[in-house]
Amino acid sequence: MTLLVGSLMLMAVVVTSVVLYQSYRQVERTSINHALNVARIAQRSISRNMELLSLDLDSVAWRYRHAQLHSMPVQQQLEFLLGEKVEAGYIVAQGIVNAEGTLVVGSPILEQIMPGSFSGRDFFDMARQDAATTLYISPPQSVRLERRAQVIVLSKRLVHADGSFAGIVFMVLYLDYFRQLFEAMSLEKHAVMSLYSVDGVAYMRVPYDDAFIGSVLENAPQLQKLLASTSPAEGSYFTRSLQDGVQRLYSYVRVPKTRWVVFIGQTKQTLFREWMRMLYAVLFLLAVFSTASVYLMSLLREEFFRRSKLDQQLEEQARTDKLTTLLNRRALDEGLQEAWHKCQRNQAARFAVLFADVDFFKLYNDTYGHKAGDYALVAVARCIRSAVSRHFDRAGRYGGEEFVVLLDEADAEGALHVARTIIAALQAQKIPHERSPCGRLTISIGVACLERGVHRSIEEVVKAADQALYQAKRDGRNRVVLYQAPTEVVPAAWQLSSANS
Ligand code: GH3
Ligand code: MG
Ligand code: MG
Repeated sequence: MTLLVGSLMLMAVVVTSVVLYQSYRQVERTSINHALNVARIAQRSISRNMELLSLDLDSVAWRYRHAQLHSMPVQQQLEFLLGEKVEAGYIVAQGIVNAEGTLVVGSPILEQIMPGSFSGRDFFDMARQDAATTLYISPPQSVRLERRAQVIVLSKRLVHADGSFAGIVFMVLYLDYFRQLFEAMSLEKHAVMSLYSVDGVAYMRVPYDDAFIGSVLENAPQLQKLLASTSPAEGSYFTRSLQDGVQRLYSYVRVPKTRWVVFIGQTKQTLFREWMRMLYAVLFLLAVFSTASVYLMSLLREEFFRRSKLDQQLEEQARTDKLTTLLNRRALDEGLQEAWHKCQRNQAARFAVLFADVDFFKLYNDTYGHKAGDYALVAVARCIRSAVSRHFDRAGRYGGEEFVVLLDEADAEGALHVARTIIAALQAQKIPHERSPCGRLTISIGVACLERGVHRSIEEVVKAADQALYQAKRDGRNRVVLYQAPTEVVPAAWQLSSANS
């Protein structure tokens, strides 16, 4: 029972663990997919916008190359090159700079945010030095407009007909573009979305942190390695943050044709919150189930023990004589059969049978009453029990006032000794019997030992003991007679002289 319940519980634990592990992996996969999808959407939006802005710069360059600019007034030049509304949406300013670094034409605000020569500014120098650069994106820069703002500059190289450097066309963009893009993404509350360049410069972070913009990653070697390597265009990994020690899932997607990578960081705790709830619920149910099982098992065990005890008691009752509490006839017969079979199997084994009968018991009943007769039988049984103490010996009531004792591994001498002990014990009780010649209640006992080759069944051994008893009665009662020969019954040498006197 315990084993069955134990195996069931073990099975439940194993199945639950497998299911929990599968669901854990499912949550992990879903989280990664979701984060990558969000990062891809952001990446596509950024790519498309960068392409459009790049095309814008190209068309400005084209117009600049082909127009009769010098014949136009300044305002007209501006409108012709940059359009009517040069500052629109996230575009702070646009302009064209000649090969010497002087602004040829540009948004008026440039005088405020980027005064003086452009020579020495990264977006000008890079375009001048590197003819291969198609679109240059500057690191974040802080400019002072009505309030301090973070911007980046996109610049493109202008060339003369002979291919020599002719200056740049550029555009200043608010970094807020990325902020609004990232904030519009559906991410859970504690998620962090950021944009880095491959050399570790931070361009944007949501939740927004101004101090973060333009900073360079230092304490995240793993991230540095990832950004610096020619790793796949997208991926994800779990890592513990060096700053706050929190485990996060990081998913990243590179923005093609730029040096940017979009990052999404989500705390493991948030991702697995629902799963943890399920885990607690399952653990709780398992605990309830186990407690209930253990409780039920203990009830069953108790019931089982109660029943087996009851069965044992019933079995014992079925084998016991009610009045004397010695074995009853049925149990006695079983014991005799058992002893007989044991001796059949084992040639060295032996046993003896005592057949006892209370003397003049009818007269006792007649004199003292049936109830007193019962008490007397109980006293006789007590005397028998006190003389028969070995574990494999059996004593029982054969019927009426007759008792049989089976003595395991006993020879004639031993059996006679036990019989005499019984007679002496009854004498010591000094139960009055006025109609017996002895004046006391006495008992006669016939003894027979198993004789191999003579006895052919247990009944024959019992019969021999009964014959010896009969002889004891004839010889005057209150004595023991040993059955010795099939034809001849010899009285035992020992008699209770005191009982006869
Ligand atoms: P003997 O010495 O030859 O054995 O004479 P006896 O009177 O003992 O033998 P008998 O067989 O004539 O009588 C046996 C009596 O035992 C008869 C019966 O009333 C009595 N007896 C048998 N069983 C019980 C019992 O359970 N309780 C009581 N009180 N008497 C019983
Ligand atoms: Mg009798
Ligand atoms: Mg009798």
